Amino acid sequence: MPKVKILDYLVSDFYSVDADFRTTLEEAIQHDSNIHIITLNMEHLHLAEKMPEFKRILTNAEFLIPDGESICLLARILAKQKIKKIAGIDLAEKLINSYSRIAFLGAEKTVSDSLRNLLTLKYSSVSISSNSEALNSSKEFLFEHGFYEKNQEESVIERIVNFNPELFLVALGSPAQEFLIAKYRHLFKNTVMIGVGGSFDIFAGKLSRAPKLFIKLKLEWLFRILQEPKRLGRFLSNLKNFLFLLLKSF
Ligand code: UDP
Repeated sequence: MPKVKILDYLVSDFYSVDADFRTTLEEAIQHDSNIHIITLNMEHLHLAEKMPEFKRILTNAEFLIPDGESICLLARILAKQKIKKIAGIDLAEKLINSYSRIAFLGAEKTVSDSLRNLLTLKYSSVSISSNSEALNSSKEFLFEHGFYEKNQEESVIERIVNFNPELFLVALGSPAQEFLIAKYRHLFKNTVMIGVGGSFDIFAGKLSRAPKLFIKLKLEWLFRILQEPKRLGRFLSNLKNFLFLLLKSF
């Protein structure tokens, strides 16, 4: 997959690849035995400036995917390359469709429970054989909600490791999800791991995805602020950090 250098990071240009993403991941997994995908945004870049251990996580991840117009703009200005944003939630959906054994960690218990119901319903099909009717689910899922005590973390992870997922989605918010993956990734074999922020809330219908028009106009961030006004502070500080990073790199 072509990569674009932005500051100290190699960001994958997902949309310039013809082959499907699953093939690319399978090729990579043979070398690395598991894969950490980070859906890169301004908050990550800023945190990495302040925290060397977070910077190490970013540089050790097999794939950094541009999840934000600011990352695409940085590629345009600093690397003179045009890359297209891929929203973490879209990537999560693609991955869920591609893999069969999937572990979901994160979100409130009610959200995690409704996601379980929704996905079980979506991927279960009734197959009718000559004399019996069987419920035949083509996928296997494991769900763990994200509001456990710190001292329960290891047993939560142990259950997930024992499940042996092909895909492990972590929705604990950033940077907790990236730290958790980095801490435990050595326990997994042939697993694709990705932090997906608030995606489970959207999948389960607790929050809404921006309408297509907002996405087309590259205004998904505005919809998220309108839906959750407490995000405004985060947005303004990202904007400040974006301008600061830009000035610093000239
Ligand atoms: N969350 C969780 N456990 C926690 C804190 C948060 O499972 O201890 C979940 C929360 O319910 C939400 C997600 O993490 O589903 C965070 O979503 P957000 O959109 O804030 O992610 P970010 O934008 O920080 O990546």
